[in-house]
Amino acid sequence: MDIHEYQARERFRAAGIPVPPGRVVTTPKEAELAAEEYGGTVVIKAQVHSGGRGKAGGVRLAEDAAEARRYTSQILGMDINGFPVEKVLVTPAEDIDTEAYVGVLVDRKAQAATFVVSAEGGVDIEEVARTSPNSIRKLSIDPRYGMLPHQAYWLANFLYDPPKLVSQASKIITQLYDAFVGSGASMAEINPLITTPAGEVKAIDAKMSIDDSELFRRPDVAKMRDTSSEPLSETRAREAGLSYVKLDGDVGCCVNGAGLAMATMDLVKHYGGEPANFLDIGGSSNPDKVVAALEIITSDSNVKVILFNIFGGITRCDDVANGIIEAIKHIDVELPIVIRLTGTNEDLALQILEDAGLSACTSMDEVVEKAVELAGVA
Ligand code: GDP
Ligand code: MN
Repeated sequence: MDIHEYQARERFRAAGIPVPPGRVVTTPKEAELAAEEYGGTVVIKAQVHSGGRGKAGGVRLAEDAAEARRYTSQILGMDINGFPVEKVLVTPAEDIDTEAYVGVLVDRKAQAATFVVSAEGGVDIEEVARTSPNSIRKLSIDPRYGMLPHQAYWLANFLYDPPKLVSQASKIITQLYDAFVGSGASMAEINPLITTPAGEVKAIDAKMSIDDSELFRRPDVAKMRDTSSEPLSETRAREAGLSYVKLDGDVGCCVNGAGLAMATMDLVKHYGGEPANFLDIGGSSNPDKVVAALEIITSDSNVKVILFNIFGGITRCDDVANGIIEAIKHIDVELPIVIRLTGTNEDLALQILEDAGLSACTSMDEVVEKAVELAGVA
């Protein structure tokens, strides 16, 4: 789950990281009032689940309240990398001497939270990693011990020379680790971490993604979810208890089991098609789940064909067949549907589907090839 900058700022602030104040507003008038209250130059920042807002025109320095009002009205309603802007953050502008990058993320290979720091901050860190890999320092943190003082110092010392900056930065790095672990995050990032002419180190941007599996035990974090900022299909899938990931292709896949879903996507590609989604309906043959799955798949206008791939183990194929028929009764599906069922009670299932006028088979190759062909024709 992604959270907004203003929410990540709150978490960072609570961990002790110096973050300038800010106010979230939804109208130009409120932005004007906030700017008046802060006085001087303020920054107007689009609150969307996307990086690169600066480049897209979603971060503007406003010299006075009138300008804050004008920029806010321009930024509200903008679309940044596919995310409509509904809120902006108004924050007093800082004077910047240098911009560094400090991030921590779950590194599966290292099986640990891994820090990435660079003195070349403010910009896209992937770009820095490509063009000047030597300007990046990495360090994995052993979860048994947490962040040790010398480790934070070693990272901070890569960013700055003056001892006063190094000591501030090492404190911030330790606090970022605390915020990361304490929020159940999979990623936490300060870009840029700035130094000011007065010799202070501060975080003026904040980004954090939360591991979905952590949410059940962190209600305070879970309530930061902003469903208006995620694709409607993903919200509905989550509410229906389905694992769904939207992709860019046109073959809508409805599969039971994550492994079979992955194999199905591979096979779609093998036959020259592109999957429109990953969707695991799980072990259940509950018609409600099949209805939800069909609704989600058909709400994606790219989808040209719906492919069911069901392996009946404990799940009985005839139950799934009835679920599909029941689901189709409830929603109007104009797209071609191809079905593959195999396993427990497959003969019964094929008969049920045939009686209902649906075509089904037991071969995965056959059904996928057909789906790709239909997508091509459509
Ligand atoms: P992002 O583009 O989505 O990562 O948004 P950021 O919050 O990182 O802002 C982008 C850039 O805007 C920063 O790298 C800064 O160069 C600039 N910026 C943001 N806030 C301030 C500020 O308070 N003062 C000044 N001078 N520049 C700022
Ligand atoms: Mn940034």
